[in-house]
Amino acid sequence: MGGKSSSDSFDAVFVGGGVIGLASAWRAAQAGARVCVLERAEPPAGATNVAAGMLAPVGELSFGEPELLAMMLAAAQSWPEFVTEVEAASGVGTGYLANGALVVALDRDEAGELRRRHELQQELGLETEWLTPRQCRELEPGLATNFVGGVLAPGDASVDPRRLALALAAALREVGGELRTGTEVVDGLWDGERLVGVRAVAPSAEIHAGAVVLCSGAWSGQTPWLPPEARPPVRPVKGEVIELRPREDEPPVASRNIASERIYLVPRDDGRLVIGATQEERGFDTTVTAGGVHELLRECLPALVRHLSDRGLLRVGRLDQIVLDARQEPAHQILHDPALQLIVAKPRAQRAIDPRRDRPRDRRWCC
Ligand SMILES: Cc1cc2nc3c(=O)[nH]c(=O)nc-3n(C[C@H](O)[C@H](O)[C@H](O)COP(=O)(O)OP(=O)(O)OC[C@H]3O[C@@H](n4cnc5c(N)ncnc54)[C@H](O)[C@@H]3O)c2cc1C
Repeated sequence: MGGKSSSDSFDAVFVGGGVIGLASAWRAAQAGARVCVLERAEPPAGATNVAAGMLAPVGELSFGEPELLAMMLAAAQSWPEFVTEVEAASGVGTGYLANGALVVALDRDEAGELRRRHELQQELGLETEWLTPRQCRELEPGLATNFVGGVLAPGDASVDPRRLALALAAALREVGGELRTGTEVVDGLWDGERLVGVRAVAPSAEIHAGAVVLCSGAWSGQTPWLPPEARPPVRPVKGEVIELRPREDEPPVASRNIASERIYLVPRDDGRLVIGATQEERGFDTTVTAGGVHELLRECLPALVRHLSDRGLLRVGRLDQIVLDARQEPAHQILHDPALQLIVAKPRAQRAIDPRRDRPRDRRWCC
């Protein structure tokens, strides 16, 4: 904007408009804070733009992570209410489907592992059921025949993260919060050692804030304007997904999340099917590769989904290019979303936001 710079002031600015930034800012605005989200792209962007959106604390249960499980279960429980609220506030559907998940074992080794996980699920009192292949296919007729068994987790769910981001952006604006897109944060504003705001470009602006909340996902660890010790220790992990769309005259391939050890399929409410995900340590490389697409199709053709090979049922929808996730912990931040917002919104209502004190485990906060 011809070098012209503006200056504003908010109670809190949120750097990054993925689900975390948008949801946290929305909650803070609801609690009465004057907030602004600064996003360099146009939501849905970042990892939010490609995430499968599984909300699967039970189906994806890991050994030895009781605290994480408790957090995930609490988050999953709050999703129906959260979705109802954000949809009502925005008038935008999120594609939330409380349709459960089926985790299948494709061979004996996988079956052994799945049995162990099922035992743990049972010990923890989680709602799951071991099913024979025939029972699995009764639930999901699109499944192939050559697998050993499966575990049904009826409480798992999914959401369409892109639609969720759009809904959150609308809800944020509805409650008076600001979302500035095409706005990249390039520097911090400091009063001695205290961070008092950020400098953004395109358009150029100095934005003062009582709290700066770092929500820039995989890029959070690469924040040159923060002292090294204040940068969250996250790293990007590359994951590719593909999205397939059924022909109009064909029924959806799956009616619930289907996962094996190596791959997952997540149906959307309009029949699309997300297949994910590869995982590679490739830094910030976001290119979609033939190898990645091949790997995804190879894993589900023909082992997992019969229709894909039998009838050439699906055609490739869109392939996205941003495929980065931030990792310090397992990648369930869409699932965690409501829990994170509560941590963000609470301080405003009761006391000043202090990112150091209120920081959740994944160190998303920074000041
Ligand atoms: C392939 C894949 C599948 C996944 N599947 C699931 C799943 O099934 N379930 C689940 O719970 N999670 C899943 N995840 C993880 C989930 O997508 C992420 O944890 C979540 O989207 C993180 O949200 P975020 O808002 O923190 O980051 P992001 O969505 O990455 O948003 C960060 C935003 O910050 C912006 N930004 C960065 N730097 C700046 C700057 N300097 N100035 C302004 N803006 C900036 C970026 O443009 C971006 O929009 C998946 C991730 C991937 C990659």
